[in-house]
Parts: sequence; structure tokens; C-alpha cells
Amino acid sequence: MELAELFASRNVNGDDKDPLIEKETYLVKGHPLSWGYWGATEDMWLGGNWARGRSLEKNNWKKDPGHNFCSILSGGIGFLSGAEGIPQEISIQLWRINPCCPGTYKAMRDARKEKVADVLARVAESPVFQSINRGDPLGMGESVGIPRELAVARTEDLQNVCLWCDEFFRDYFDVEKMVTKFMQTEDSSKP
Ligand code: SF4
Repeated sequence: MELAELFASRNVNGDDKDPLIEKETYLVKGHPLSWGYWGATEDMWLGGNWARGRSLEKNNWKKDPGHNFCSILSGGIGFLSGAEGIPQEISIQLWRINPCCPGTYKAMRDARKEKVADVLARVAESPVFQSINRGDPLGMGESVGIPRELAVARTEDLQNVCLWCDEFFRDYFDVEKMVTKFMQTEDSSKP
């Protein structure tokens, strides 16, 4: 059975494939459940494929250090508070609570073990996540001693701001303990 048939058999409406389904056009019209599909294109708000998953495997991810996925819908912007024209939005991939759809190097927390509201309240206190909430991953390290200039240079090298974000959370900031890695060891990895 095709997916479309399966959804139809359960009264899940598939008339509108627009990914930006709005409650006024759906819920009000008597379709409490709906489905759609889309692919990432340069024309969509995404502006190209995230450097994630099969895009990395197929090497068709967006290589443009000047394009900030974080500052547009589906990025990290507004995940704590919403932003101008951007609803508050997080993504939960299976159990991984992320501030954005691409997903950070490590999840903020595990939705099987903690309430999402508690997780958001905790990370909201962190200047690192406040910077992501502003859609500014290049500035997220400033509060922990990672200068913006380093973030810009690494993004240039890596060709994608989300890959810089991965590096930051891998090498400089422990999201589980919410502290810098070099503060834990007091060592030399601080740039
Ligand atoms: S820079 Fe980080 S927080 Fe922002 S969209 Fe990319 S992975 Fe998500």
C-alpha cells in the first residue's frame, strides 16, 4: 500500500502539500490531521540542503559559509522565544530534543527522560543557547571565550555554519554539563 493510500484510509488529508500548513486553512476546514511532503531546494526557505544525513553522504549539502541556516525558519532562531515572523519551534527527532531541524551535534536532552518544558527552561539560562535563539551561532561561543572571529574563520573553512556548530559542541562546549570543555580540564584546548 502506498503511503498516500495509507493516510487516506485513516482520514489524514493530503490535499495540500505545502509544508507550511497553517491552522487557518487546515484545522478550521475540518482536517485535524494532514500530511505533506517536500524536498529541500534552493528556492525554499531552507536555501539548500543541510549538512546532515544523506546530503553529507551524497555530497550535495549547501557549501556556502555566508548562508546562515540558523537565522531562518527551521533554524535555531526563536526556539526559546519565537522571533519576528518566526514561531517558537523545536524539533524532536525520536527522543533527541533539538533547537533546530538540522539538529545539534548532541541533543539538548532526551525527551524520554525529561519534560521538554524543563529542558527549555534550563537551556534558556545559557548565553550559548540564547545566541542560538537569536539565530547567531557565530556568536555562541563568546560567553565561554570562543571569539566570533574564530567561528567565522572555521565556518569559512568548513563551508557551512552548522558544521561549525558541530565543532563547537564537539570540541568546546559540553551540552550535558553545560560548561566549556576546557574549563572542565583547565587545559590547553582553549584557543
Ligand atoms: S547552527 Fe547549530 S543550532 Fe543553528 S541551525 Fe545549525 S545545527 Fe542548528
